[in-house]
Amino acid sequence: MCRDPALKSRPPPSRLVAPYDRGGGRRTWIFRRAAVSSARNINSTSDSTRDAGRWDAIVIGAGAAGMMCAAQVGQRGRRVLLIEHVRKLGEKIRISGGGRCNFTNLHCSPANFLSRNPDFCRSALARYTARDFIALVERYRIRYEERTLGQLFCVDSAQQIIDMLKSECERGDVRWRIPCEVRAVAREREEFVVDTDQGALRAGSLVVATGGLSVPKIGAGPFGYRLAERFGLKIVPPRPGLVPLSFAPDTLARFGDLSGVSIDAEVSCNGGRFRENLLFTHRGLSGPAILQISSYWRAGDAIEIDLLPGRDAESWLLSEQSSRVQLNNLLAHALPRRFAQQWCEAHGAVKPVNQFAASALRLLAQGLHRWKVIPSGTLGYNKAEVTLGGVDTGELSSKTMEAKSVPGLFFIGEVVDVTGHLGGFNFQWAWASGHAAGQVA
Ligand SMILES: Cc1cc2nc3c(=O)[nH]c(=O)nc-3n(C[C@H](O)[C@H](O)[C@H](O)COP(=O)(O)OP(=O)(O)OC[C@H]3O[C@@H](n4cnc5c(N)ncnc54)[C@H](O)[C@@H]3O)c2cc1C
Repeated sequence: MCRDPALKSRPPPSRLVAPYDRGGGRRTWIFRRAAVSSARNINSTSDSTRDAGRWDAIVIGAGAAGMMCAAQVGQRGRRVLLIEHVRKLGEKIRISGGGRCNFTNLHCSPANFLSRNPDFCRSALARYTARDFIALVERYRIRYEERTLGQLFCVDSAQQIIDMLKSECERGDVRWRIPCEVRAVAREREEFVVDTDQGALRAGSLVVATGGLSVPKIGAGPFGYRLAERFGLKIVPPRPGLVPLSFAPDTLARFGDLSGVSIDAEVSCNGGRFRENLLFTHRGLSGPAILQISSYWRAGDAIEIDLLPGRDAESWLLSEQSSRVQLNNLLAHALPRRFAQQWCEAHGAVKPVNQFAASALRLLAQGLHRWKVIPSGTLGYNKAEVTLGGVDTGELSSKTMEAKSVPGLFFIGEVVDVTGHLGGFNFQWAWASGHAAGQVA
């Protein structure tokens, strides 16, 4: 099946040389050879006599989930075609994790995902785990490191993950149409007819891996949702997730100058709770804690910020009750000075500590643990890492991702109403759901 003998067999398992500590809790695994064999240039329309005929499966969308799925389908000996409408495949992988791709998380579990049916992701995640993807990465001798909270990143470049997936597709003799525009999809008896700008294509299985709406400039769009609706499947309304939040003008007037200031905080909203860094920006709030909570936030809700997580602010302030120091200067021992000043001004608390009654200090302590902020909105799909919502999981088999009412039609990755927390979970969902569909499509 595979035309390039070099790609017929997997690279031999790499040898783990030694884990070492890079400081800050980071561990790096070094492998003897760091190179990933680069697949042949496939950023073009590949043609062969096979292309002209029928396909066993067509996958639309050459992102993380689509490439994983196509590789699996092809490696089962099925004739598979992968269609991508922009010139480059895997663009989101390339820009992910600051160019280093946080490709999975060691602690991945269903609790790291949002969906109307929180159990839907369970089966696919159990059958293709973070360990399975790590094993693949190690076979390709890609160097990776653990950063905080089990997040695994490439040491060198996200491009290595794209090249690895390309190589896996080559092993399955996957054929490509890039760039290629799908105009319409119809079902005729047992087949799907995919009308493209390069002619009509037919296949028994159709896998939709077109992702969500985030970052339209690199190819995102509503294609997958429209296709699902066209076949009568329900859509959970999409909205931006893992996205910075904006301040209303009055809050911005007070805190906008703090752009660049970050605080270790615990942020909660609608059942979500995250302790990570919060970052002030010139438009509002960002940083990992805010990106995480943005997926739980709904317009009009307040987010609650514990500015001194793990500390007892009340005992601390009361123990300083006789101090003549200004409250903001006292708070500056635990919080960034500029923030402490703005926060005290916003709370009308600009005076020495010894001029506050104990009851007032108790209230301020509560305020420090439960600072309520009502964002005015999000920065939208241009800045969102993911799209919440999507194809309703009630329409799909959790084992295969196949539409219950349309045999042969599959939805995988971000187009489905399964959205991960920040930290490598969204790619793990893309790999796992792509793998699940890849076993049957
Ligand atoms: C800036 C940024 C950084 C991120 N960093 C991380 C990270 O480090 N770790 C992590 O886990 N997640 C990260 N994510 C999220 C992650 O990239 C996505 O969840 C993941 O890529 C989803 O995979 P997917 O295959 O479902 O969709 P995508 O990777 O978005 O792939 C969809 C593909 O379908 C194509 N397509 C769309 N419409 C059509 C059409 N009509 N015809 C043909 N092709 C079409 C698109 O061009 C694209 O190539 C990040 C996201 C962004 C935006």
